[in-house]
Amino acid sequence: MFEVAVEKTFAAGHSLRNYKGKCENVHGHNYRVRVTIEGNSLASNGLLVDFVDIKKELVAIIDRLDHQFINDVEPFTVLNPSAENLAKYFYDELSGKLSGRSEVPVSIAEVRIWETDTSIAAYRG
Ligand SMILES: [Zn+2]
Repeated sequence: MFEVAVEKTFAAGHSLRNYKGKCENVHGHNYRVRVTIEGNSLASNGLLVDFVDIKKELVAIIDRLDHQFINDVEPFTVLNPSAENLAKYFYDELSGKLSGRSEVPVSIAEVRIWETDTSIAAYRG
């Protein structure tokens, strides 16, 4: 099994609903997102999938969130903007974009989100 990963960062604010503690107040994070792609075989050029293509799709999603108050961005107007839900959001949004990006079948192994250097959530399909 081959695996490639790309990482990007963005800054955004949020506040957690139904939560008692500091994170119910409005605050910001410098988020890091890592998308890991896997597949059994490589395309004829020796790549699983082009890093550039994954980054392009990742940036398109990040652009909706970067320097925003995440609670104001769909679906987080209803869904709690936790790192866990953000990881699944990136996973779901990217899933539909990946097919056709490579000659070979690829899937998302994992989306991992850092809220801080030491606080991490991940979603796997
Ligand atoms: Zn937070």
